[in-house]
Amino acid sequence: MKYKFNIKKYKYQAIFLSCLIFLLAGIIAVSAFRGNITSAPQEELPLAETTTIPTQPTNTTSTSNSTEPEDEPESEPEHIHAWTIKTIQPTCEEDGYILNTCSCGETEKTNPTKATGHSYGEWEIKKEPSLASEGVKERQCISCQKIDKMVIEKLVYQPNEIQSEMLRLVNEERANHNLPALKYYGAAQEAADIRAHETRVQYETEHDIHHTRPNGDSWSTVLDGIELLGAGENICAGLTTVEQVEISFMNSTAHRENILNPRFTHLAVGEDGVCWAQLFLAL
Ligand SMILES: [Zn+2]
Ligand SMILES: [Zn+2]
Repeated sequence: MKYKFNIKKYKYQAIFLSCLIFLLAGIIAVSAFRGNITSAPQEELPLAETTTIPTQPTNTTSTSNSTEPEDEPESEPEHIHAWTIKTIQPTCEEDGYILNTCSCGETEKTNPTKATGHSYGEWEIKKEPSLASEGVKERQCISCQKIDKMVIEKLVYQPNEIQSEMLRLVNEERANHNLPALKYYGAAQEAADIRAHETRVQYETEHDIHHTRPNGDSWSTVLDGIELLGAGENICAGLTTVEQVEISFMNSTAHRENILNPRFTHLAVGEDGVCWAQLFLAL
């Protein structure tokens, strides 16, 4: 037991020794690690330079691509339109615009301007309206020569007091027989006046009246030019009032048949002194 190693006796020496060993080991380890770090940058620096070099070309590729597209055939070169500009003026009816055309075939319409509308001149009457038919008037655009047409209403004839009263009495008789009323037909007024006058001439010269005209033609030729389906005539002489005329016609079978003919639709009345004419029309 004499040679037994006394730990307690050499306790401080042992601690000091182990600390020294530990410290030396630490110094060796740190110096070895440092040697690794200092050698590393020398090898990695050139790598850092090569990575920055490609970044510069990527900045210039966009410009170099447009000038030398062969360098990078895989990426499609972007086409930038080069517009040829043409101004399309607005017309009377169509809007104007700027037409942009590129050599690639693409077109674009920009800057729209409103159609101007027509610039019409004065109306010009091409056909005068009459009692029987409508008239026509035209005007022309001074810009595009387009013709604008318009119908002019038929003239409206206002029957005078005698004519109105005769129409009233005729329609009264027709109403008594459940027949539709006649309308006054102003377009036949001139014809009725002519027949009243011709009747007066015959009455004064021949002391007789008849349904042939002075030239021997039938009375109905006085209605030439008026489009109709049929016509009838009543004439009389030597009577002074509308009432007398209507009574005498109704007392004569042939004249009454005209007044009560269901086919007739219109009436015109002529009067010249004591001579009278009723023209019945089917229109
Ligand atoms: Zn283009
Ligand atoms: Zn026009």
